Amino acid sequence: TPSGGPYDAVVIGGGPGGYVAAIKAAQLGLKTACIEKRGTLGGTCLNVGCIPSKAMLNNSHIYHQTLHDIKKRGIDVEGVKLNLPQMLKAKDDSVQGLTKGIELLFKQNKVDYIKGTASFVSPNTISVALNEGGESTVEAKNIIIATGSEVTPFPGGAIEIDEEQIVSSTGALSLQSVPGKMVVIGGGIIGLEMGSVWSRLGSEVTVVEFLNSIGGVGIDEEISKQFQKSLTKQGLKFKLSTKVLFAEKKDGKVVVTTEAAKDGKQDTLEADVVLVAVGRRPYIKGLNLENVGIEVDSRGRIVIDDQFNTSVPNIKCIGDVTFGPMLAHKAEEEGIAAAEYIHAGHGHVNYETIPSVVYTHPEVAWVGKTEQDLKKDGVRYKVGRFPFLANSRAKTNMDTEGQVKFLVEEETDRILGVHIMGPNAGEMIAEGVLALEYGASSEDIARTTHAHPTLSEAFREAALQTSAGNAIHF
Ligand code: FAD
Ligand code: NAD
Repeated sequence: TPSGGPYDAVVIGGGPGGYVAAIKAAQLGLKTACIEKRGTLGGTCLNVGCIPSKAMLNNSHIYHQTLHDIKKRGIDVEGVKLNLPQMLKAKDDSVQGLTKGIELLFKQNKVDYIKGTASFVSPNTISVALNEGGESTVEAKNIIIATGSEVTPFPGGAIEIDEEQIVSSTGALSLQSVPGKMVVIGGGIIGLEMGSVWSRLGSEVTVVEFLNSIGGVGIDEEISKQFQKSLTKQGLKFKLSTKVLFAEKKDGKVVVTTEAAKDGKQDTLEADVVLVAVGRRPYIKGLNLENVGIEVDSRGRIVIDDQFNTSVPNIKCIGDVTFGPMLAHKAEEEGIAAAEYIHAGHGHVNYETIPSVVYTHPEVAWVGKTEQDLKKDGVRYKVGRFPFLANSRAKTNMDTEGQVKFLVEEETDRILGVHIMGPNAGEMIAEGVLALEYGASSEDIARTTHAHPTLSEAFREAALQTSAGNAIHF
C-alpha cells in the first residue's frame, strides 16, 4: 500500500472520469493518487458498461449476420452455432485486458493506486478502508470526487433485481443462456443495446417504454422513428406509451404488469428474463459527505460550479456523480479539465458538442440540436439529408439503412446539429463534432474533399444539400 501522501491531488474513483483525471494530474507534475474500491480500474464503463456491452454487440452482430446476411454475399456456411460461453469469455478477456492496461498507465505516469473505499474525515483528509483489510489515512491538497453512478432501482421496490432472472445491465451482460422471452423495461440506450444483443442471439424481446418514442434524451424525433422501424424489422417488439407497474415471479417465469398511458388499461407480459433499464443515479454511498458539508441536490447529484468546484473549496467533482449526460467521454473531458484547473487555474469542456452514440446496427449518433430543440427555440433552420441507399460504399457493402441529417441555421449556414443513423455512425459523428467545435458552416463541409468510395461521402452530400440546395447523387 502506498504511503499516505501528502498528495497534491487525490482522485476518488477509478472510472473514465477518475482515472483520466489522475493520469492528467500526474502528467502535469502533481503528486497524485487514485482510490478505487472495485478491485479493478476503469469503473462502470470498462467493467460493466461501455466495453463489455460493445463486445457483446459486436460479436452478436457477427453471429446474426452469419446466420442471416452472408448467403447473398457468396458465402455458404453450415452448422452455424452459438457458443455463448466463448462469447462471454471474449467479452471478459477484452474487459480484463483494458482494465489491466490502465494499471500499467498508472505505473507509467506514477499515479499511486490505492485499493479501497474512501470516506471524508476533513476537507484534506480521507480515510481508506483497504480492500486487503485495515485502514489508511491519505492527506491531499486537492481532491476530485469521481464516484460515478449505479443502477436506479425500480421505484417503490416494485421490482427486485436478482441479476439472474430480473437483471440490470450488469446481469444482462452475463446471462448464461439465451432467454426464450425477454422483457426490457425502458427504451433508453441500455434497453436498446442489450435488447439488440439478446434478440440477435435468439430471444423474443419486447421493449416497454413509458414515453411515446425510443432512444432516450436528445435523440431527434424523426431519427427515433426510423430507428424504431429498423429494430422492429430485426424482430424487437415495442410497447410505447406504456408504463411498467410491477413484476412478479411465477412458476419459473416473470409476469410484468403494464399500464397504458392513454387510458390506464392494464396488461401483463410473461418473460423468462426481465431487464430493468430505467436509468442510473449518482453514487455517493460511504463518502461521508456530511463530514465536510458537500452539497447534494434533490436528485442526489453533487452540486458543482462551472469550474467543477463543490461547495468545499479544494474539492472538485466530475462525471456521472454530478450534472450532465452520463457518458464516459463526458466524464473523461471533465477529468482533464478538473486536473488543469488544479494545475493552472483554467480548463474547458464544451457541453454543446458532446456526441451520443447508440451502438446497435445500424448505429445511431448525434451531436448538437435536434429539430424539436430548434422549433422550441424559434430558430429558423434548414434540413439537409442524404440516405445511405444512395452512397456507393454502403451499396457495395450491402448495408444501406439510414441517413445523414444536417440541421443548419438558415441565415448563416452554421451547423447546429448532425444526426446519423447508419453503418459506422458512431465513427462518422466525430466529423460532426469537429464541425460544431470549429463553428463550421455546411458549405465548409461541402467544399471539403471526402475520399471515394467511403461512407463519409454521405456526410458531405447532406452538407451539399443544405449549402447548395442539392446533393449530387440523390
Ligand atoms: P464510474 O465509471 O461509475 O466509476 C466510478 C468508480 O468509483 C467505480 O469504479 C466505483 O467502484 C468507484 N467508487 C465509488 N465510490 C467509491 C469510494 N467511496 N471509494 C473508492 N472508490 C469508489 N457511456 C458511453 O459514453 N459509451 C457507452 O457505450 C456506454 N455504455 C454503457 C453501457 C452500460 C451497460 C452502462 C451501465 C453504462 C454505459 N455508459 C456508456 C456510461 C458510462 O459507463 C459512464 O458514463 C461512465 O462510466 C462514468 O464514468 P465515471 O468515472 O463518472 O464513473
Ligand atoms: P435512460 O434514462 O436513457 O432510459 C430509461 C428509459 O426508461 C426512459 O426512456 C424512461 O422513459 C423509461 N422508463 C422509466 N421508467 C419506466 C417504467 N416504469 N416503464 C417503462 N419505461 C420506463 O437510462 P438507461 O438506458 O438505463 O441508461 C442509463 C445511462 O447509461 C444513460 O445516461 C445512458 O446515456 C448511459 N449509457 C450510454 C450508452 C452509450 O452511450 N452507448 C450505453 C448504455 C448506457
